[in-house]
Amino acid sequence: MAGVTSTWTEPSNTATALLLLGRGSDPASERGVDCPGDLPAPSDPGLVARATAAKAALGDRVFVLGHHYQRDEVIQFADVTGDSFKLAQQAAARPDAEFIVFCGVHFMAESADILTTPSQQVILPDLAAGCSMADMAVLGQVETAWERFTDLGIAGDVVPVTYMNSSADIKGFVGRNKGVVCTSSNAKRALTWSFEQGSKVFFLPDQHLGRNTAVLEMGFDLDDCVLYDPHKPGGGLTDDELRDARMILWRGHCSVHGRFTLDSVREVRERVPGVNVLVHPECRHDVVRAADQVGSTEYIIKALEAAPAGSAWAVGTELNLVRRLALAHPDKQVMFLDRTVCYCSTMNRIDLPHLVWALEELVAGRVPNVITVDEDTAHHARAALDQMLALP
Ligand code: SF4
Repeated sequence: MAGVTSTWTEPSNTATALLLLGRGSDPASERGVDCPGDLPAPSDPGLVARATAAKAALGDRVFVLGHHYQRDEVIQFADVTGDSFKLAQQAAARPDAEFIVFCGVHFMAESADILTTPSQQVILPDLAAGCSMADMAVLGQVETAWERFTDLGIAGDVVPVTYMNSSADIKGFVGRNKGVVCTSSNAKRALTWSFEQGSKVFFLPDQHLGRNTAVLEMGFDLDDCVLYDPHKPGGGLTDDELRDARMILWRGHCSVHGRFTLDSVREVRERVPGVNVLVHPECRHDVVRAADQVGSTEYIIKALEAAPAGSAWAVGTELNLVRRLALAHPDKQVMFLDRTVCYCSTMNRIDLPHLVWALEELVAGRVPNVITVDEDTAHHARAALDQMLALP
């Protein structure tokens, strides 16, 4: 890889590690869903030229969005990079682009569809690019929880708040029940607004972002938070626990950020004296407490830009982004917080062969893998998103 720094060290492979383009092959590995048509081979040396040509042929008709956690081989073709909310806004700001090719995961493409015009089509190059966190909150389960709150007589006091990383169904539920969407950048503002509307918050689907924001940024006690487990009868909570709680956290988490542990923090502090530990708020509460700084993906990027030369940083977020930051800041020592590989496996579903396939299909006049949200769900989800945009 061009421009590799002398300080960047690749974490060790795990049994589930994903291979990057041109860095080995594993014919037995999963390839995601089948594409109708021919998916180019990853070893095809002409992939970059094919993607370039297809994108040029489409011109302004296509706009390619790339999430920060995407592979470098894909990011190089993104017209804009960003976190999930910035990308949805960017999609909405391009009403003339007929096709939005979303290099990210399913819930992000749904948000883009909600925010773009009906004449635009949002395309996800691999439909298997889901999000394990978003999948942990299913509409039926959430409605069951809400029925419990209603039976208990507390639903009127509860404001539902969902993290951007949730399905359109869940955003629609939250909009229907006068709640708000939040991102990791504005979670505190969303919670502050919500506690002005009601005395309790029902936070979906990431327990860690909810707990970390409430306890570390808003002064709540850990005892103010309860965990609603959709796989246990009644969520595993007694009536009194639900009545007394201020934050009812959904039992969901990010399988990538959830892997960092207190041991990862201790180990890097011993190994690199003076290191700054910088983590995402989707990490576990004890990890966030032990870190020096916590912030969203955009915060992490800015913190490293502002860091003095020679400083050392152990970053607890997705590996593609950490590697890219290490290469962008060769004057700083940027390392991955854990010693082993930690990619988001679903983000990595979008690889160059899938992007080439999607773009070439569009050139051929076929529109593949369109992500659509039904109008009723989109209407209510938009209300929850608009409420986020209107946060003071
Ligand atoms: S990094 Fe976590 S939250 Fe983000 S897409 Fe992957 S599983 Fe979902």
